[in-house]
Amino acid sequence: MDLFEHQGKEFFAQYGMPVSAGEAVFSVDEAVAAAGRLGTPVMVKAQVHAGGRGKAGGVKFAADIDAVREHAGNILGLDIKGHIVKRLWIEEASDIAEEYYASFTLDRSAKTHLGMLSKEGGIEIETVAVENPDAIAKIWVDPVDGLTEAACRQWVLEAELPEAAIEGTIDILLKLYIAYTEGDADMVEINPLILTSAGKVHVLDAKVTLDANSEYRHPDYQQYDETQVRDEREAAAHAHGLQYVGLDGTVGVIANGAGLAMSTVDVVNQVGGRAANFLDIGGGANADLMSAALQVINNDPSVKSIFINIFGGITRGDVVAEGIIESMKRVKIDSPIVIRLDGTNAEDGRRLLEPELGDDLVLEDTMLSAARRAVELAK
Ligand code: GDP
Ligand code: MN
Repeated sequence: MDLFEHQGKEFFAQYGMPVSAGEAVFSVDEAVAAAGRLGTPVMVKAQVHAGGRGKAGGVKFAADIDAVREHAGNILGLDIKGHIVKRLWIEEASDIAEEYYASFTLDRSAKTHLGMLSKEGGIEIETVAVENPDAIAKIWVDPVDGLTEAACRQWVLEAELPEAAIEGTIDILLKLYIAYTEGDADMVEINPLILTSAGKVHVLDAKVTLDANSEYRHPDYQQYDETQVRDEREAAAHAHGLQYVGLDGTVGVIANGAGLAMSTVDVVNQVGGRAANFLDIGGGANADLMSAALQVINNDPSVKSIFINIFGGITRGDVVAEGIIESMKRVKIDSPIVIRLDGTNAEDGRRLLEPELGDDLVLEDTMLSAARRAVELAK
């Protein structure tokens, strides 16, 4: 789950990190009122799930209320990398002396947490990594040990931050690590972390991705779930409790189990096709779930064929077959369906499907031959 900047700052503030006072608003009038309460100068900042807002004209300094009105009017409705701005964050403007970068994320290859700190902040870290890799100080933190103050201090010294920024940065990084781990985040990034003209270290931007699977531990994360921007296909699938990711190909994919769904996308690619989506219907492939899955895929105009790939373990082949037959009665499907059915009770399932087979419903023996057929039908 991606958080808006202002949600990220509220999240950081809960862990004691210094952020600017501000208000989230949805209109020019609300922006003006918020700036009136906060007192100018303020920053007018687009809230979208995308970085590089500054460059795109989505972050503006407003010295007075007239400027707030002007900037809010310009930024609302702006298209930033395909995201239309509907919400603004109005915050007290800071006086910046220097801009740094700080983040924690999971280093999957090292199987541990990775912290990155750089005195070159305010620009994208990918750019720093290419142009000046030595300017990024890295620390790998074993989750069992956690981030000790001594290790954190060492890390900050390696980053060669100026003397005035050291203590404040250590304090923020220790809190950022706690927010990252206890908050079940996949990624936390502060860019820029600033040193103010008054000599304080302060959080000026917040990028936070939370692990949606941890929601049961954090009931308040429901609020973030509600502001996720999903494409229409994903929203429909999510409403039915399906694990769905929209892709840009033409073969709709339905599989039981995330591993099989991923392999199905791979095998479609392998035989020269492109999957329109990833869709895992999970263990219980009953008629309700199958109907919902077929409906979601059928509503995607780029889908030209549908590949249902089921390997029955706990899921029984005959139940899956009944589900497919029943859902085809409920949903009018526009594309031909290719089925591969294997595993528990697959024989019974195939027998049930036999009378339904034709041009629009094809049964194949193997995953590979089914993928070939689906790709062929998508042409
Ligand atoms: P991003 O472009 O999406 O990463 O948005 P940021 O929140 O990082 O803002 C972009 C840039 O705007 C920052 O790197 C700063 O240089 C500048 N900026 C943001 N907030 C302030 C502020 O309070 N005062 C000043 N002077 N500049 C700011
Ligand atoms: Mn930023």
